[in-house]
Amino acid sequence: MNGDFKKKKRYGQNFLTNPAIPNRIAAESGITAEDGVIEIGPGFGILTKELCSIAKKVVCIEIDSELIGILSKKLEGINNVKVINADVLKTDIASLIKDEFEGMDVCVCANIPYYITSDIVMSLLEGRYGLKSVTVMVQKEVADRFTSKPGTEGYGAVTAAINYYASAKKLFTVKAGSFDPKPKVDSAVIHFDVYKQPRVKVNDEQTLFKVIKAAFSQRRKTLANSLYSAFSNGRSKEDIASLLGQCGLSPSVRPEELDIEQFAMIADRI
Ligand code: SAM
Repeated sequence: MNGDFKKKKRYGQNFLTNPAIPNRIAAESGITAEDGVIEIGPGFGILTKELCSIAKKVVCIEIDSELIGILSKKLEGINNVKVINADVLKTDIASLIKDEFEGMDVCVCANIPYYITSDIVMSLLEGRYGLKSVTVMVQKEVADRFTSKPGTEGYGAVTAAINYYASAKKLFTVKAGSFDPKPKVDSAVIHFDVYKQPRVKVNDEQTLFKVIKAAFSQRRKTLANSLYSAFSNGRSKEDIASLLGQCGLSPSVRPEELDIEQFAMIADRI
């Protein structure tokens, strides 16, 4: 069906073959007829077609130049789509939004390559592009981690950072058999509602992320000990303990118990 095309492992090419899945991704993405959509890695366009049917305009970014001709043929007759042959991680997303989606809310919706899942998600959130939402298919265990709540095992530095920018939820899981080639693990679709402003206001973002990173750097340590290692700078352990006390936290609290508001409180005092 797709000629002599040879799938490339290095580009994370696991193509969806079950047509019910792209239909459901598009339906549950919250994208409206007024929205612009960026799709990363359209492949043969199975999700692209669904997105074009619900959105005002779709711009796809595909790294594999061999796919561009095949994709253009598949999308023939659809007039609200544009295909760009580029590496998404080297694409100037802010300029793309400005040039392609004037006056539209912009959503990202994609079955993204697994080898750069975190890079893509974090750069979309950290880039502050004013996106309305990000709906992506990722490996199931990554989806669980990205959407885990404080106090649960999967909750870590990445989850806390994500919670600063967006509210994340898992929409549904997708069996490995829905792809060609079949991956080793199941996948899941997650949805981020991106906040217009980060969820908490802090004096200094760098400090917030340094606190989060330090807190989770040694999960087995108490928060007081981890913060002491990273921020000792003239402070005693007692100073750190008293700082945590000012935030209503016990010195023996574990990092995974803290939500983004509590990390922000620490960052503003440390
Ligand atoms: N959307 C298609 C589907 O669902 O069948 C393909 C999904 S496949 C998991 C990932 C796609 O992303 C492939 O088409 C691959 O060539 C493309 N890709 C990989 N790395 C990329 C990058 N850095 N920038 C843009 N596209 C990339």
